Amino acid sequence: MIHYSFNDRILPVDNDGFYGNFGGAYVPAELKARLDEVNAAYREAIADPEFVKTFESLMHDYVGRPTPLYKAEALSQKYGARIYLKREDLNHTGAHKINNAIGMGLLAKRMGKKRVIAETGAGQHGVAAATVCALLGLECTIYMGATDIERQQPNVQRMRMLGAKVVAANEGNSTLNNAVDAALAAWVNEPDTFYLIGSAVGPHPYPEIVARFQSIISAEIKAQLQMMEGRSNPDYVVAAIGGGSNAAGAFYHFLNAPDVKLIAVEAAGKGINTELNAASITSGHSGILHGSRTMVTQDKDGNVREAYSISAGLDYPGIGPLQAMLAEDGRTSVLTANDNEAIDAAFRTTRLEGIIPALESAHALAALEKLELKPDDIVVVNLSGRGDKDMFTYMQAVNIGC
Ligand SMILES: *Cc1c(COP(=O)(O)O)cnc(C)c1O
Repeated sequence: MIHYSFNDRILPVDNDGFYGNFGGAYVPAELKARLDEVNAAYREAIADPEFVKTFESLMHDYVGRPTPLYKAEALSQKYGARIYLKREDLNHTGAHKINNAIGMGLLAKRMGKKRVIAETGAGQHGVAAATVCALLGLECTIYMGATDIERQQPNVQRMRMLGAKVVAANEGNSTLNNAVDAALAAWVNEPDTFYLIGSAVGPHPYPEIVARFQSIISAEIKAQLQMMEGRSNPDYVVAAIGGGSNAAGAFYHFLNAPDVKLIAVEAAGKGINTELNAASITSGHSGILHGSRTMVTQDKDGNVREAYSISAGLDYPGIGPLQAMLAEDGRTSVLTANDNEAIDAAFRTTRLEGIIPALESAHALAALEKLELKPDDIVVVNLSGRGDKDMFTYMQAVNIGC
């Protein structure tokens, strides 16, 4: 079992939740009070060895951690470098989201909350949250855009089987963006409820809490690389960014190691120069979204523009404040992969390695085409999730000749 320590000062965040020019908590006073309550409980929890021990044993026995760090020989040969895949796809429920959901579920219990609300887009976080609520005996309500409920039926059914109530958000495009609004609005009026957010976004302290629970990914990478390569730092870490939680986890313990190049990959959808992308950093502007200052996809008038990506987990119009800061400071290099590049990378990885990646993770794999790698370079790609949920999209792509 790998022991996790949350006793570090690695995150570049101040007491008000600012990451450089980004972050904060731009919310009404009633909501600020709820956030302060979460913040205090969270700080107490991560300093409590019992809490960390419970988290660790659930990660080990329930989620199946540590996830393997797999040396992908065929991809290594193809790209002329030492390519490793961090197998978050092998987690219980099929993605990294369960790490954070369990951490926050334990926090909700500790705070004496009986009820959890969460938002979901594609349904991956909804399933993770509903799973944790079943495990810990918490009541669960998931807000989901009406459009997403229509197109993500298998995940809706999973959430219902797990005992969660799925509530439709009907505003706007009826997608993830509106589901977050609905969850935040409901939370204000419900003091017994814990808001279990799904990515490193939203008002302080949420981006910090999510990044920290996900930081176990890079804690494991370091230990595993030390065993396998005799050094704990790779040359590159590559991760796709939707809200930025799997990237935060994969980058975390390398943030202060400037020799490790951090590559964040945004979804370019139908193209960076179209209105159909989810590239909040590459094509967006600074703005306030869901209580936080960050990079936001915007239309010509400065209104939030709905994001688009073939991958439902990446089509969020914002990005966590940590990722916005890292990009602005040049600590990360931000690349993009469009729909077709992601589909190609998914098929390539499947045929070469026998691993069907989630469409989100396929965006990170697509970036391998764009790096100039040397034979001794060690590259870790965070394989954030498995592709079962994307089979329909993959089959459609084959039919149209991708
Ligand atoms: C939700 C999701 C993402 C995107 O969210 P982040 O918070 O940016 O990690 C990426 N991969 C998978 C498999 C997901 O389910």
